[in-house]
Amino acid sequence: MIYNEEFETLPREVLEALQLKRLQQVVQRVYHTVGHYRAAFDEAGVKPDDIKSLADLARLPFTTKQDLRDNYPFGLFAVPMSSVVRLHASSGTTGRATVVGYTKRDIDIWSELMARCFAAAGLNKNDIIHNAYGYGLFTGGLGAHYGAERLGASVIPMSGGNTKRQLMILQDFGPTAICCTPSYALNLAEQGRAMGVDMRNLKLRVGIFGAEPWSDKMRDDIESALNIKALNIYGLSEVMGPGVSMECIEGLSGMHIFEDHFLTEIIDPETGAVLPCGEKGELVFTTITKEAFPLIRFRSRDITTLNIAPCRCGRTHVRMDRVMGRSDDMLIIRGVNVFPSQIEEIVVQQASLSPHYVLEVHREGHLDELDVLVERRPEIPGPLSIAARSSVEHEVEREIKGLIGISTKVRVVEPGTLQRSQGKAVRVIDKRPKN
Ligand SMILES: [Zn+2]
Repeated sequence: MIYNEEFETLPREVLEALQLKRLQQVVQRVYHTVGHYRAAFDEAGVKPDDIKSLADLARLPFTTKQDLRDNYPFGLFAVPMSSVVRLHASSGTTGRATVVGYTKRDIDIWSELMARCFAAAGLNKNDIIHNAYGYGLFTGGLGAHYGAERLGASVIPMSGGNTKRQLMILQDFGPTAICCTPSYALNLAEQGRAMGVDMRNLKLRVGIFGAEPWSDKMRDDIESALNIKALNIYGLSEVMGPGVSMECIEGLSGMHIFEDHFLTEIIDPETGAVLPCGEKGELVFTTITKEAFPLIRFRSRDITTLNIAPCRCGRTHVRMDRVMGRSDDMLIIRGVNVFPSQIEEIVVQQASLSPHYVLEVHREGHLDELDVLVERRPEIPGPLSIAARSSVEHEVEREIKGLIGISTKVRVVEPGTLQRSQGKAVRVIDKRPKN
């Protein structure tokens, strides 16, 4: 089913005319209401009136995550706080969190786009949706919640964690759909099996999974463990939250980006040049209807490709492939964004530790684990006693858990143990299977 038949199936030329009109409006608006954009446009020598075609989008400067941090918390808002009805922040960051605001209309549109996603997964008002995305500052929980209600489905606001209770609700309430991270879906399946729950015979028939990269292999595992169709959803809090794009159950080949609200470009992450449709590069988003927190050419750092070929579902919106990687060093561990620099800040505060560290990511069962290997300072007499080592390891683990929100295993090693790279330091060793 297509939730908004009119807008999701617009002929290309009508869609592009609508996009241009909306782009021109948002560019005028941010130029006159957001100091950052006025300065950035002036520096690039481009005025709002210069945007005469969609191709002129490429004349506008990029917006980066750093711009968001520099304007923390509300500097990029384009409306007064009296018009903002909701705030969210990117997960797992501290002082450098990026804060996003929504007007009532922004929430309305977000709810509709999430309802479109559920409809694309074949759901309707007769479905019961088990929402195990985290509720809170993270956009996942509330984003999916409002969309499920907009669709008219019955939503179970489960949030994350408390797996035993989740399993009880899955059996007793009989939800027909589940949303969570793909790794959590596998974890639920595994724990359920261990408790003797017949996970393949629940009422679930479809799962909507996102907030972390996953592979076709994981899709197969989830589908067979839960006996459901597993669909991919994409979003990022800066651009809106979940529901920027969604795979349709008819096509199962890429996620339709809701192009009546978002303009998408693929660029070369090194040069910033716009690449032709179909080439692999970094996704760049411009929001053309958001009021509180519009973004112009936001560099997502997510690497993928776009596909404009017609889809058998009838939607005309472009499809993006699953995210194939990042053009920066951000890791996503169990749905939490982790930058090596955040770990580094914590490590170097310990008197006995050096800034030589490596992050090792691996997968235990179905869950991603992060090990932090760090050398002790050579000037400290060593090797450290077992007690001293264990104390500093636990201290760093506590700090990481408190500030970033993920559990890690910290290991202090002797000076010179970790490999030194020529040139750019290799901070991350990702041992997760790629498929
Ligand atoms: Zn489709």
